[in-house]
Amino acid sequence: MTASLDPAAVIAEFIDAVAPYDPAPDAPPVVLLGLRTAHGDQVFPMSDHLIRAMCRALVSYRDPEDRGECVACGGRHLDENLHCRDCGQLHGVLGQVIADHLRRAAEAGD
Ligand SMILES: [Zn+2]
Repeated sequence: MTASLDPAAVIAEFIDAVAPYDPAPDAPPVVLLGLRTAHGDQVFPMSDHLIRAMCRALVSYRDPEDRGECVACGGRHLDENLHCRDCGQLHGVLGQVIADHLRRAAEAGD
């Protein structure tokens, strides 16, 4: 992922990618998407096919940061070590081992 993405270019690229498969390329747009950026305003006519393609893209989307949901707080911010940034809960095998160790240490009075 690049540091600066041009939102208008991203939308135009998505439209270009799905347009060849539009079964009704001459149908009127179902909505006009207006975009105001630092470079000015742009309007993108959105076809039914394009909206359906966005829905399919959304269904298949998985965020690279998605490591599941915290069982303790329900948060979605687990780091690469499956440590919840919201409540501190540890997950996974390592998290279980550490939690067990801490519980035994607490029981032993350490
Ligand atoms: Zn949590």
